[in-house]
Amino acid sequence: MYAMGDEEAEAVRRVIASRQLFRYRGGEGGAADQFEAEWAERTGVRYGLAVTSGSAALMCALAGMEVGPGDEVIVPGYTWIATALAPLAVGAIPIVAEVDESLTLDPKDVEQRITPRTKVICPVHMSGFPCNLQAICDVARGHGLRVLEDACQADGGSYKGKPLGSWGDAGGFSFNQFKIITCGEGGAMVTDDVEVYRRALMFHDLGTPFRAHAESIEIPVFAGLNFRMNEVLSAILRVQLTRLDGILEALRREKRILMSELDGVSAFRFNPVHDLEGDCATTLALLFDSKDEARAFLAAMKEEGVALGSPIDSGHHLYVNWKTILEKRGAHHPGRDPYKLCGYDVPYSKDMCPRTLEFLARTVYISTAVDRSDADLMALIKTVKKVAQTPVRAA
Ligand SMILES: *Cc1c(COP(=O)(O)O)cnc(C)c1O
Repeated sequence: MYAMGDEEAEAVRRVIASRQLFRYRGGEGGAADQFEAEWAERTGVRYGLAVTSGSAALMCALAGMEVGPGDEVIVPGYTWIATALAPLAVGAIPIVAEVDESLTLDPKDVEQRITPRTKVICPVHMSGFPCNLQAICDVARGHGLRVLEDACQADGGSYKGKPLGSWGDAGGFSFNQFKIITCGEGGAMVTDDVEVYRRALMFHDLGTPFRAHAESIEIPVFAGLNFRMNEVLSAILRVQLTRLDGILEALRREKRILMSELDGVSAFRFNPVHDLEGDCATTLALLFDSKDEARAFLAAMKEEGVALGSPIDSGHHLYVNWKTILEKRGAHHPGRDPYKLCGYDVPYSKDMCPRTLEFLARTVYISTAVDRSDADLMALIKTVKKVAQTPVRAA
């Protein structure tokens, strides 16, 4: 959480006073409806669907695209495990591809992993870094594939001036506690495609043949799940949305200062970012020549009392730690397990994305903050410079 205050508490109080916490209450125009319209507008797309999580947003998008058994979805080896689990939830197989130095999906590697079964490419804007969407969308177009942007860590970001989430056929956002704006747990799917929207709308509400807004939908009913958003969380999100630009501005300001102060330090360079202006700037990534140098830097910073991390240590954000995937346990029941039903042996291994492991291990993250004083920021910069200029001792 970056910012929250009395305004959110007041918005919640108003919902409680209304005694209407459920979004579908006959009349339209509640907080969930309003948030969807505002989020769609912010993202520059026609349709927004508020749901209970970012994971749900990805599942709804895949269901909206009619992805299912027999299909493959390409995901990067560096992302929260939810990205890889979403295809399984709709019966499809996740295929893991490399990230490049930008720590986002490598379009060239994606091309290598396309098979006749591939249906969707799922670029992930990790740590708010915009993916190379131009190249990824070109690859997708060339092969007749769809693009689902996982923008769960990139609320409010953009690429080439166009909002993240609006480049692909659909986008998924998360508003859990750790994201740029938050309501504790929540998410949103966005799309310009009316068919994707309608199927997702139905899927997220048990197949919704019975809501007033669904009556005009001519898609035959099908069994869905319940990922409905409620009015309490929607009211919080509407206030959070008014803070988003301020949060991004503060993060980007810190990142600009960090970059200008650390520019030219020879121990590392900055991991390339495909669009610095659209970058959410939650993180500055420093790329070292070797993983040993990154390790030595982390250890020396720790000795100075500054705890930084490397994305190689980020647990379930890294495919080698996705036990569920690597062991191919695709469902709660073998009769629903895409790995058992697909009829071929999905070629996973811990070394299927060696470059991903290398780039992550060579990277050190500095997180930005909205409430750090300039004095604290300058002290951090001073320590980084001091440590970076100290020759690495042999281990
Ligand atoms: C957080 C996150 C998700 C899932 O969001 P939840 O709201 O926790 O379900 C998916 N992908 C990425 C990259 C995330 O960081």
